[in-house]
Amino acid sequence: DRWIEVDGLHKVYRSRRSEPTHALSDIELFVRRGEFVSVVGPSGCGKTTLLKILAGIVPRSEGTVRVAGREVTGPLPEVGMVFQAATLLPWRTIVQNVMVPVEVQKLDTRVYRERAERLLGLVGLDGFAGKYPHELSGGMQQRAGICRALVHDPAVLLMDEPFGALDALTREHMNVELLRIWRESGQTVVFVTHSIPEAVLLSDRVVVLSPRPGRVAEIVDIDLPRP
Ligand code: ADP
Ligand code: ADP
Repeated sequence: DRWIEVDGLHKVYRSRRSEPTHALSDIELFVRRGEFVSVVGPSGCGKTTLLKILAGIVPRSEGTVRVAGREVTGPLPEVGMVFQAATLLPWRTIVQNVMVPVEVQKLDTRVYRERAERLLGLVGLDGFAGKYPHELSGGMQQRAGICRALVHDPAVLLMDEPFGALDALTREHMNVELLRIWRESGQTVVFVTHSIPEAVLLSDRVVVLSPRPGRVAEIVDIDLPRP
């Protein structure tokens, strides 16, 4: 039941102008199907790099990476990703932005449109479906970005500091909503955060990346009471 499996992963960023950066070295990691795992660690330890490699948008230097039973060589349709800052298309309305994964994967628009509207409601964006991104605050755009990652009900959800731009209250509210969505759908989640309380609140397991480039320092098992 290992739904995400990382073995001997190395990542080196090379550029002509500077020394190579060893962002990740010798990472071993697995996530079970339906598990919610948080990745914490100081800035620059390679959290974002790890997530982008799982998402298939950054190539690895060495090692094997399997997600949902497949070797990752590019973005997989089973995977949804939430970025640190929402990257909504300015010329499309909020609901049209949320629907992007549905269109890219040529799923039935009528079925998923309803889900899109429901998700927008869940994150407090009722009545904003027809607005354009510039008409919403940064935090609201970020919440729309979370809906976009969830709309096609991906088996695996990767989130990179999704609440970074939100104020404390919205953040708390989003945590509760996120827990509900995650438990409803049985998604496998990898959640990158710098907030230990948030990691503890949301996760089954917490993975700590050490300050030395990339090495997984510890895997902390957190027993979360199940509803
Ligand atoms: P974190 O998310 O934990 O802050 P990152 O994965 O963003 O860490 O970065 C890990 C290391 O890789 C850092 O030293 C960072 O400067 C470097 N790095 C990240 N992205 C790039 C890139 N595109 N080119 C070169 N170096 C990078
Ligand atoms: P920020 O991104 O500035 O932290 P939030 O996303 O937390 O802001 O939004 C705070 C609240 O302010 C929202 O829930 C919403 O009710 C209101 N709000 C902010 N911007 C707008 C807007 N452009 N139109 C309508 N309401 C807005």
